[in-house]
Amino acid sequence: MRSHLLNDATADRYRRSVTEGVERVADQLAATRRPFSGITPQELAPTVDAVDLDRPLGSTSAALDELQDVYLRDAVYFHHPRYLGHLNCPVVIPAVLGEAVLSAVNSSLDTWDQSAGATLIERKLIDWTTGRIGLGPLADGVFTSGGTQSNLQALLLAREEAGTADLAKLRIFSSECSHFSVQKSAQLLGLGREAVVPIPVDREKRMQSVILAAELAACRAEGLIPMAIVATAGTTDFGSIDPLPEIAALAAEYGAWMHVDAAYGCGLLASPTRRHLLDGIEHADSVTVDYHKSFFQPVSSSAVLVRDGATLRHATYHADYLNPRRTVAEQIPNQVDKSLQTTRRFDALKLWMTLRVMGADGVGELFDEVCDLARAGFELLAADPRYDVVVQPQLSTLVYRYIPAHVTSPAEIDRANLYARKALFASGEAVVAGTKVDGRQYLKFTLLNPETTVADIAAVLDLIAGHAEQYLGETLVHAAS
Ligand SMILES: *Cc1c(COP(=O)(O)O)cnc(C)c1O
Repeated sequence: MRSHLLNDATADRYRRSVTEGVERVADQLAATRRPFSGITPQELAPTVDAVDLDRPLGSTSAALDELQDVYLRDAVYFHHPRYLGHLNCPVVIPAVLGEAVLSAVNSSLDTWDQSAGATLIERKLIDWTTGRIGLGPLADGVFTSGGTQSNLQALLLAREEAGTADLAKLRIFSSECSHFSVQKSAQLLGLGREAVVPIPVDREKRMQSVILAAELAACRAEGLIPMAIVATAGTTDFGSIDPLPEIAALAAEYGAWMHVDAAYGCGLLASPTRRHLLDGIEHADSVTVDYHKSFFQPVSSSAVLVRDGATLRHATYHADYLNPRRTVAEQIPNQVDKSLQTTRRFDALKLWMTLRVMGADGVGELFDEVCDLARAGFELLAADPRYDVVVQPQLSTLVYRYIPAHVTSPAEIDRANLYARKALFASGEAVVAGTKVDGRQYLKFTLLNPETTVADIAAVLDLIAGHAEQYLGETLVHAAS
């Protein structure tokens, strides 16, 4: 069994084994004609169930053959131009290479003595990101597992900086379109459900700063403490960007921590043409970025950045076995001192390889392309009498619904749209997402694949219309019989 351990003696086996796997995936990608096979959990479960984990196959080839059946054949392929579902991106090849390297070397980013150069690479990428944001000379941050964790850490720092033991008094203000991780974090931080004050959005789905101002004033009048304002730079549903300069001014006036959740919109940091959409982000106390959303990085790759690196001390704990206090005096760079995690992947390497091969402009141009595509898709939807589209996109998301020509009840339209989404998924022809707007069922394209064309969007809209009409036709027949 030692022959399976990766070391000097097995370098050749490693080369053959990984190459074989790479060949399979490359063949699969080249042969993929649809984003999804349409298989149901019930259809696939027996195949996975039938695998006896206590009876190994003994060879890479056999395990890869089996993997074809249990995974590769029926996976959902974000690489396909008609995957228009969630905030998942196709990945760039330099990042995938980085992933292979970081797994093989297996550095752990908690302490210098487990990571050496990796720590410096991560730190340089943090500095690069804070530089792009404009957070100033004291800025710092750390890679995380995702936007959810980044938001949690940012709000932990905000809670500690608020400087009160009376957690019941703390309030967080975020738009009604902000990510649910804000609510979750408040709960985890012991703030309770009423702690998050949802601020209504305008027609463009941006936080209304006038209402924010009023809520802040009310908060102060009631003797409560405005702990943080969370501005979203790219809401998950609409890609809308809250008015960052106005929010920054209010945060300063009320002494509230300003957190910008740019999990989605962070791609603008690299955009050659749209960086101005993030103007005001430089005033933030903390920022969440998800490289695995708009930097075309594999899951996971995210970071939390802070204006004042000293605030990261709220996540610092010392263990004699790992990062004893003396290591601070000795200036040993232990990233665990800044992180909620202990053992931690070297995700930064993926972004490093991406920037070293393609450059930031290369990434930003890809993100620009999908934003342009969303613009074109909006024109298409706005001109199509079959569809109602919610807002003109700032980023790369389109939220819309099918509206039948003949009069039907709103509930029936909801069901037709939901049916269309499910039928499309079952067909595997395309994958779209769904959401609710003002209580009604809508559909959503999240465009993150520069290979998707306007013709793809038009074709998928025709498919959706076909499914919706089929549903409405069938229910009519049922009603008549
Ligand atoms: C996706 C998203 C998150 C959560 O990020 P994960 O990486 O999925 O944990 C947080 N905020 C916004 C605005 C998001 O779009």
